[in-house]
Parts: sequence; structure tokens; C-alpha cells
Amino acid sequence: MRKPLVAGNWKMNNPIESSKILLENILHQAELLESMLAKDGKASALDIAIFPPSVYLKETQEILTGSSLHWGTQNVSAYDEGAYTGEISASMLQGFGCDYVLIGHSERRCIYETLELDQFVLDKIVAQKYEMATSHGLTPIICIGETEEDYAKGKTEEVIARLLDVLIESKGSKALAQTVFAYEPVWAIGTGKSATPEWAQDVHSFMRERIAKHDATTAESLRIIYGGSVNANNAAAIFSKPDVDGGLIGGASLDVDKFIQICFAAALKPNKI
Ligand code: PEP
Repeated sequence: MRKPLVAGNWKMNNPIESSKILLENILHQAELLESMLAKDGKASALDIAIFPPSVYLKETQEILTGSSLHWGTQNVSAYDEGAYTGEISASMLQGFGCDYVLIGHSERRCIYETLELDQFVLDKIVAQKYEMATSHGLTPIICIGETEEDYAKGKTEEVIARLLDVLIESKGSKALAQTVFAYEPVWAIGTGKSATPEWAQDVHSFMRERIAKHDATTAESLRIIYGGSVNANNAAAIFSKPDVDGGLIGGASLDVDKFIQICFAAALKPNKI
């Protein structure tokens, strides 16, 4: 059975004091949600993970240790150690109790894109980070999705297949069982213009089928979450689709009420396999 995952990407927002308050509030509300679900016989109905700015990891660890919430970072280095100014390695993240790491978020990719690197080279960097994360026991949430231009040209599947093939080539299809994918159409991130539930379902199902060609068991068991302008109003409809296993939430994760409503929608998701 695939357990839904709701991940909150805080990006580079809020000073430390208000971040601590937000985290404490999320924890409190998530615990209330959990006990409500447990009364309904739905204990452990979902996983929740928070991605604060890395400089808040110590405080995040202090607040969340011993709870059922998970945490991680918004990026990781492709290298283990060395002269990589400003980078943070996977082994350093282990020291802060991280379970997850976001890899290949489009807001990171566009930093490289300004260097005019080929998209295939960017996929290789994502694969290197993926290898680094998994070899240090972190679960990567690999972001994947087409730009507005690719979307308009009907290239969604091509863009997605390219990265999936690079990842499968790097560690084989079995390793993907320890991976979460976040389908994030770039045109939907932070724009208020979410993909329709039907579009998200079609792309997630395409991804599963592509992986199933190599390994049907892994394809069926791995989680594919959707990201791009998910909010408290559209979450239930998006999560109701059979291949959508939760969401990667940006803007709405900075508001405790909205974020918990989204978590609630994921916990009530029908058709969990
Ligand atoms: C994101 O940052 O991954 C994201 C999906 O942002 P938003 O929910 O604000 O579109």
C-alpha cells in the first residue's frame, strides 16, 4: 500500500523566530489530526515532511525529534566533501536527523540553466545527487516536470522520460523503490495555476508505466506526489486520483491552517492501493 506523503517546501521564507512558531503550530495541528484519524481507525494514514531553510535544521530537529513528522532540506550537494563552497553534503544532513531531501527542484535547476547547461547535463547532476542521497540513507524526493514552453510544444512525456531513463541507468530500477517523485510542472509552481487532477493523473500514470517496463513491483510501490499551486481548495480533487500519492506544497505550507487542511485531504484519499 502506498502511504500518502505531504511535503512542505518553505523555500527561503521567514526569519528563525516565526519559523519556529510555524513549526510548533504545524506539529500541534498534525498531532490533533493524527489522534482524530486514529479514533476513526486511520492511524498513520499519511507521512508529513517539512523542508525548512537549511540554517534552521538544528531548531527543526529540536522541535520535531520524537514526533511522527519528518524533515529534510531543499537541496544536497552532488559531492561527498571537499572544496565546494556553500554546498552541504548528504552526510552532514544525516547529523541533523533528516529523512528526506528535495532534489532537482525547478528553482534550483534554473540556477544552472542560467549557465546554459544542456538539460541532459542537468539530469545527470540530479542523478549524482540522487546517488549521494540514497547512499547516505536519505530518501530523495526527485522533482520532475516540464516548463511552460515544453508543455506548449507537447513535450511533457519526453522531458520526464529523459530524467527517468538517466536515473534508471545510474542505479537501476530497484533503487527507485526508496525514492519519491514529485511531478511538478514548472508552469504551475507558485503561479496559482495548478494542473487539473486529470492532467496530473495522466502524467503520474505515464511515469509509473515507464518504470514498470523495467520493474513492475517498484513502479507500483513508489510514491509519486504532485506539486504546483496545491491549496486547501484543490487538494482533495488532485489527491483523489489513483496515481497521485500526496503533494509537494510551497506557498500553502507557510500557513498552518491551509497546510493541515491539505494534509487532511491526503489522509482521506480514496483508492489507496
Ligand atoms: C514548490 O515549491 O515545489 C511548489 C509546488 O510551490 P507552490 O505550491 O507554491 O506552487
